[in-house]
Parts: sequence; structure tokens; C-alpha cells
Amino acid sequence: QQAIGALQSLDASHHLHPFTDTLQLAGRGTRIISHADGVYVWDIHGNKLLDAMAGLWCVNVGYGRDSIADAVAAQLKTLPFYNNFFQCTHEPAIRLAAKIASLAPVHMNRVFFTGSGSEANDTNLRMVRRYWDLKGKPGKKTIISRKNAYHGSTVAGASLGGMGFMHQQGDLPIPGIVHIDQPYWFAEGRELSAQDFGIKAARALEAKILELGEDKVAAFIAEPFQGAGGVIIPPDSYWDEIKRILSKYDILFILDEVISGFGRTGNWFAATTYNLTPDLITIAKGMTSGYIPMGGVIVSDRVADVLVNEGGEFAHGFTYSGHPAAAAAALENIRILEEERLVDKVREDTGPYLQARLRELCEHPLVGEVRGLGMVGAIELVADKDSGARLPADMGAGMLCREACIEVGLVMRAVGDTMIISPPLCISRAEIDELILKASQALSLTFAKIAA
Ligand code: PLP
Repeated sequence: QQAIGALQSLDASHHLHPFTDTLQLAGRGTRIISHADGVYVWDIHGNKLLDAMAGLWCVNVGYGRDSIADAVAAQLKTLPFYNNFFQCTHEPAIRLAAKIASLAPVHMNRVFFTGSGSEANDTNLRMVRRYWDLKGKPGKKTIISRKNAYHGSTVAGASLGGMGFMHQQGDLPIPGIVHIDQPYWFAEGRELSAQDFGIKAARALEAKILELGEDKVAAFIAEPFQGAGGVIIPPDSYWDEIKRILSKYDILFILDEVISGFGRTGNWFAATTYNLTPDLITIAKGMTSGYIPMGGVIVSDRVADVLVNEGGEFAHGFTYSGHPAAAAAALENIRILEEERLVDKVREDTGPYLQARLRELCEHPLVGEVRGLGMVGAIELVADKDSGARLPADMGAGMLCREACIEVGLVMRAVGDTMIISPPLCISRAEIDELILKASQALSLTFAKIAA
């Protein structure tokens, strides 16, 4: 106990955490995670938690994969670092780019590597502006995004994102990035049918393009479903209408698949799940299952041909772009996904099973809506099931539920009063049963706390 207290106090004194409310922590100390295996993590006190968030939506193949550690170790011993700048490269980066191209939609055949999803979205911003410059349309600079989107924490990433509380800290967004409403039917659209609301939400894009002028708009960026915003899944009508609008005004489409990529929706990319043809796809997280940091942009032939054949040098890159050890981790991670048919399993077996079982939680008096697809889901906590009326914000029901989850041995994330899950893709049916049982226990504990 003393040693744990000492660690927590070192943490408090020296470690500045991302996205952590230090005021809330006062006197309590951070939760220190010590080890992990499969879908479980253990804290330093020995408590075993079913990690229904796969870390931060990233540990797709689950924890404890020795073969990834071995692949990384072997690569570190052979070539721990070399860059991909100045006409150089190395075998892991070459093989990984080719492998990802083989999994991506057919019109996308090249990959630009970064160290993270945020850097990948910065890359997107520079790439689309460069593309239009090379096409002789330098006025096409503005990027349209959506409120409540999450695209990272760098200055460009946070600006592309639509999180108001992030914009407030640091005078964002930077110029040239604007936001339209999100397709969040449960919170913002229930006076319409879901399908009508989907069309209405998509037409906000057209209205914004017309307001700015199509000769000023470079690209539209969106997550297939908004992850950190609360697993917001657009109505079926949404994407078809967006596709129509993008093609009518010749606007590039950046699909941010940092969460959805590498199998989460039951296909390698959600572009397939939603029948989308993006010009650029942002990737990270599930690319290495988080074992080593890595991100990238999958580039369509349309954009790559201009960059490569007309552009020459693209003055952009990171020291760790295509890092050999990260590439080795990614290759082994993809090999595991393929060998264990995890993406197919999510599509055909465990995904539908999770979704069916998750919807049973709708019966709970605290739950207004359950939604999800593949291996992601959201549970909306409400005051009134019929009207969907929210609980008072100062009650902090989401946070209470997150703590209740820990009490019963489960990790779920709270986005306001929306509880979200995104478990490892290797989760079994029996582990899904355990997840649902624990979620239902946590909901009941939360209900009791609210009532008290
Ligand atoms: N895009 C999306 C959709 C994300 O969810 C995230 C991270 O959660 C990012 C981008 C940023 O990725 P990273 O944290 O690797 O910079």
C-alpha cells in the first residue's frame, strides 16, 4: 500500500496527464494499471477489469500477444531506426504500405506514415491543400468538419475536431476550418424520423458549401461514426446524401478511420461497411493494436497521382514516419487479425451477438437508447425513457456509472451521460456475456446512487 501511495504521489508531482481533471482527482490518486491479458487489465491493487474500451479504442487483437513483442524485439535488434526521408526507406515500411494497400478500398493504393492519428490528420490538411494547389485551384483551402467530432489534439487536429471545450482552450479552430451540425438523432433530431433527420443533417454540408463557395472548399472530414463524441451512428440516409453532395461540388472526402479501421465495424475499413469512396483515410490505433504508436493516411489514386506525378517533393514528414519497429508491430498485428479471422468474426458472429445482447440493456429504467455496430456501442442514460429527457448535468450520471463499472470489474467510458464501449475484437461470446452482466450491474448501482 505504501509503495502504491508513493507511486501515486510521484505521479501527482511529476506527470501531467492528457485529458485528466486534476481537481476531481484531488486526494484520490490515479488508477495505476499494472498488466493485461486478452480482454482484461489488472490495476496495481490486483483488481481485474474487463476492458470494454480496448484501452483507448485501440487494442484490437487484445493484450498479451507475445508474437507482436517478438516481432518488435527482432526488428529493434536488426534495424532499430532508419528514416523514410530523402529517397531512403526500409523493408518493414515497404511491406506494411503494400499490405495496407491490399486491405484498403481498391481505389486506394498508397500510404503516408505518421506517428499518430493527430499527425495523420495534420497530414490530411496539408495534403488536400497541396492537391488543390497542384490542380491550379489554390483558393480551395477550407475544410468542413462537424461539431463534436474528434480528430486529434495537435493544433490542426483539435481545430478539425468539433469539441467546443477543446476550442476554448487555445483559441481554436485555426482559420480555414469550419463546422456543421452532427447527425446525432437521439439528442438533436427526434422531432423527425431518423431517415428524414439524416437527410437534413447531410444537407447542412451543402448549405455550408454554398455559403462559402465551392471554389473555396477543399475537403470534408468525418468519422464514419463519431467515436469520442459518443458513438454517434448516422441514420442510414446520411452517407448517401453526403456522397451526392461531395461529388456534385467536387470536394475531397477525408474519412477518419482511426477508431473504425482495422476491423471494428466487421470490415477492414468502415468505408466498405458504409459503401463510401473516400479520397483519404486516416488510420492509427488498431493499425498496431496500440502496441507501438503509429498512424498514417491511406491515399487514393486520385490524390496520389497528382502528388507523385505532378508534385515532386511533398515537404512534410515526421522522424518516426514508418518507424521500423512500429511497422513490424503493425505487420504482425495484421497477421493475427487475418490468421484468427477476427474481422470476419466481428461481421458474422461476435459483432451481431454483442449488438443483440447490448440492446437487452434498453429494458433498464435508466436507459433511453442503445445503439452500435460491430464492436462499438453506446448506452444513453436518461431521466425519462419515453421522452428521452436528460438527467440534470450536475448529477454527473455518466461519471457515477463509470465508477460503478470499476466497482463491478468493467471499464466503460463516459461521454457526458452516454456510456460507450469498444472492446477488443478477440472478445468471445462468454466474455460478451460477462460484459453485459457487469454493465447491467453497473447501471443498477448507478440507478441506486441517483435515487439516494
Ligand atoms: N481521429 C479519431 C477519430 C480519434 O478517435 C483519435 C483519437 O482518439 C484521433 C484521430 C487522434 O489520434 P491520436 O490520439 O493517435 O493522435
